[in-house]
Amino acid sequence: MSGPKLVAMVAYMEHKNLANTTIGEQRARGIADGVHRVQERIALAEAAAGRQEGSVQLLAATKTRDVGEVMAAINAGIRLIGENRPQEVAAKVEGGLPDLCSQQGLVLGDWACDEDDIPSQQTVGFHVIGQLQSNKINKVIHCVDTIESVDTLELARKLAKRAQLHGVSTGVFLEVNESGEEAKSGCAPEEAEDLAFELAQLEGLRLKGLMTVGAHVDDERIIRTGFAHLRDLRDRILSSRQLGTAECTQLSMGMTQDMEYAIAEGSTEVRVGTAIFGERAFI
Ligand SMILES: *Cc1c(COP(=O)(O)O)cnc(C)c1O
Repeated sequence: MSGPKLVAMVAYMEHKNLANTTIGEQRARGIADGVHRVQERIALAEAAAGRQEGSVQLLAATKTRDVGEVMAAINAGIRLIGENRPQEVAAKVEGGLPDLCSQQGLVLGDWACDEDDIPSQQTVGFHVIGQLQSNKINKVIHCVDTIESVDTLELARKLAKRAQLHGVSTGVFLEVNESGEEAKSGCAPEEAEDLAFELAQLEGLRLKGLMTVGAHVDDERIIRTGFAHLRDLRDRILSSRQLGTAECTQLSMGMTQDMEYAIAEGSTEVRVGTAIFGERAFI
């Protein structure tokens, strides 16, 4: 991470107590309205694309939001959250997010649903969606069920090893830099297929899908081309029938600005922060 960005991150974590659990009634209502508005946008986009209602999951991107704000989103119906930074995962877990979920009859992290018959309505999936440095794996491996931002074989191997040590099976998405923008993480599109086949074979990991961040441009055609390319890649991986690829069904693409385009191109999960919680006061 670059110098100024790191300073800004430290600054906001000092400014804002992310473990705070109290929230004003008006703020909680604002967040609930945000959740419902985004759910409506998703339903409209599904219908416009001729897709089945409910085929796109909504992940709330909770960076810079405190435990009280995250719980307001969960109470409004959010069943999947994503954090960018390991420090924030730790702050919110220590701030009591798992306990607050369990008070609502919900399990935070959905590792268990296949094996233990917990209906998915009763779990809140917990993902990492930001760049993960390998020295931070231990901070998150026992808290989150899925890492969406895996973009090298080296990171995947380290994750696999840690997951096995902890006796968990960690879900992973391969992140692909479809736009080629330099500031973005993600592997190069040309490398993605081979990399996916390698990840799929690692014991301790389950390859669940692919993730990308849309091009940072105004041109609908350019943004959609990147999303369409990710969908084609997913289809090729699935139809390869290679070892460990059968679960690689998900496409995590689309954010506040471009979720309609992503849904039109086959997204199964949109990651939304601003349209739920409002503008971020910090990066
Ligand atoms: C912040 C973030 C989002 C959500 O962005 P919004 O524009 O606030 O909806 C989605 N994905 C990633 C990787 C993010 O960092």
